[in-house]
Amino acid sequence: LRKVFSGIQPTGVPHIGNYYGAIKPWVEMQDSHGNVILSVVDMHAITMPGGEPKKLRQNIQEMFASLIACGIDPEKTILFQQSAVSKHAELGWILGCLTTMPRLQHLPQWKQKSEALSEVPLGVFTYPVLQTADILLYKATDVPVGDDQVKHIELARDLANLFNKKYGETFPKPKPVVGSFNRIKSLRSPTNKMSKSEKDAKSRIDITDSPEVIREKFKKAITDFTSKITYEPTDRPGVSNLISIHAAFANSTPQKIGEENSHLDTLQYKLLVADVVIAGTAKIREKFAEMMRNKEYLEQTIQLGNDKARQIAEETYKEVIHRVGFV
Ligand code: ATP
Ligand code: MG
Repeated sequence: LRKVFSGIQPTGVPHIGNYYGAIKPWVEMQDSHGNVILSVVDMHAITMPGGEPKKLRQNIQEMFASLIACGIDPEKTILFQQSAVSKHAELGWILGCLTTMPRLQHLPQWKQKSEALSEVPLGVFTYPVLQTADILLYKATDVPVGDDQVKHIELARDLANLFNKKYGETFPKPKPVVGSFNRIKSLRSPTNKMSKSEKDAKSRIDITDSPEVIREKFKKAITDFTSKITYEPTDRPGVSNLISIHAAFANSTPQKIGEENSHLDTLQYKLLVADVVIAGTAKIREKFAEMMRNKEYLEQTIQLGNDKARQIAEETYKEVIHRVGFV
């Protein structure tokens, strides 16, 4: 039986890259196969230094509101908050005892993240183990992720294997499901991907941005000195990113969109893409505002999701402690 698990960090309102790269595929899986479990992984969100509790609290609520606004249906999908299910931390400990330091040191994200910090918190080193616990607690088989996470899912497979060998067959081996969607790039530095935690808010379009803000951000998007519209991702990353965004919203290919708009100059084209994005996010924007006005519904929905997740997690954990010898 196919079981899907995925997570998203509450590090800000999702942007259009998150939407096309992750959230929309989740909604499609939810509607086609069901059996989807999604977690707002707040324990992962505190691994990087510098966060504030007040901001985190707001980010968690906004992430739930965003996911529901984008079409995640809490009746069909188990949508929950990671920290509300204590078994994640508990299984994480057990799995940590099966993990070696070199195994974690070789992960590309560890190298990147630790190099960027002067003092590296232990959580930045061990979070892939927690991520494994997230997946295994629900005995997930399929884990939709970005290509940057594939190595972490390989770790999850290895740890599932190690656990099964040492303690007896318990976990299915999860496999990464990498979407074919190309990453949407930052509007300010179009060779980098669009990202929630990038400081410059003008670098991304949040799914909740107002029409005015969307228009402003596109006007300020970095392009090059040529005013023609052509799709050349390597040589002209800025314009090509606008075309990719347009193609995603128009459900078309960048090549086609590039040709169809070759008669426009870059400023005209920026305004056109802005309009496409404004129209394409209208429903999400409305639903998000509705959710944020009805905090009671939101809170209740989170609680219900947490209860469902907890039930599954506790069942798995009972099996785990029995195997490990804790009882
Ligand atoms: P952060 O900066 O906090 O890491 P992020 O924008 O990278 O935020 P994540 O929470 O790390 O977002 O990732 C959530 C999901 O969105 C992942 O599946 C990831 O692959 C996908 N994703 C993130 N950025 C993009 C992007 N620019 N284009 C397409 N998909 C993306
Ligand atoms: Mg990220």
